[in-house]
Amino acid sequence: MPLLGYTVEKTKLVVDETEAAQVRQIFELYLDHQSLLPTVTELNRRGWTTKRWTTRKGAHRGGRLFTKNSLHALLTNVTYIGQIRYKDEVHHGEHTGIVPPDLFQRVQSLLHRNGHTGGRAVRNKYGALLKGLIRCRVCRCAMSHTYTAKGNKRYRYYVCGTAQQRGWSECPAPSVPAGEIERFVVEQIRWIGRDPVVIAETVQQVRQQMDEGRARLNSERTILQRQVRDDHAALQVAATLTNSVDRVSRLADVQERLRMAERRLTEIDHELTTLDQETITEAEVTHALADFDPLWQTLAPREQARVLEMLIERVDYDGEHGQVSLTFRPCGIRTLTQELQESVA
Ligand SMILES: [Zn+2]
Repeated sequence: MPLLGYTVEKTKLVVDETEAAQVRQIFELYLDHQSLLPTVTELNRRGWTTKRWTTRKGAHRGGRLFTKNSLHALLTNVTYIGQIRYKDEVHHGEHTGIVPPDLFQRVQSLLHRNGHTGGRAVRNKYGALLKGLIRCRVCRCAMSHTYTAKGNKRYRYYVCGTAQQRGWSECPAPSVPAGEIERFVVEQIRWIGRDPVVIAETVQQVRQQMDEGRARLNSERTILQRQVRDDHAALQVAATLTNSVDRVSRLADVQERLRMAERRLTEIDHELTTLDQETITEAEVTHALADFDPLWQTLAPREQARVLEMLIERVDYDGEHGQVSLTFRPCGIRTLTQELQESVA
């Protein structure tokens, strides 16, 4: 079955650049929205559909609005990283991947983390604060939460996925005690509120992420403009169809797509303007993080996990050099400020 991002030419998969860019954005959108349903809503709002193709007999197929199922199928399709699945095995394909393996991996670990809940409500019985956030920097893979029991005591750890899958010897620092690294991360966030240098770096990081958001919107605009151009050409072709039923349905199809594309283009301009007005300041960061400390103490472990997930995109653990680094979500700090105001009000 034809797949968004590729066309089939003489039984070979050939990259369709316009669709490929769309596929990459779908992966990014899932990371932005953190769960399937809001991503589906956004895709439908944009009028993005599953692969559209024409059978040899000239019938139009596909082009359906995304559902949770079809989105899930897309996000887990290994074709996008240049592989093919045959029964239960995965092999190297002859085609070119169109999604960076790192992006693909991040999406897989988020899907895994969300499990069957399909959303943020992660079952987190042992209060693992960094569940789904922590990664082994050496192996570039997710670390999962696990524990061993000795008598009545439970010892919690985060374990590198590579070490788990391929053996302990494959990673220079396969595990880290959970309590220790959780305390360290929380301590780092507390420090940020007090240290002007760290605040400046955080602001810098957030700005860079906003720049990336801007670049993504611009690239989406380019895709849409190209699509609009193609669709205007398609309108002229459709108008010459002799079969009137075909002509009417084809014209309606293309006009509908044009209408959605144009609406989305207007939105993109609006989003870009908003982004320009939303630059975050040192003062805001200082303010948000200064309040972090008293808030943190009052939260139950489950809420603490939620706050961390809101604030931080990921924690990179480099066991080889004993380093830990935090990446903040672009909107995390702003959201935290809002929540703080609500909890005070
Ligand atoms: Zn590792």
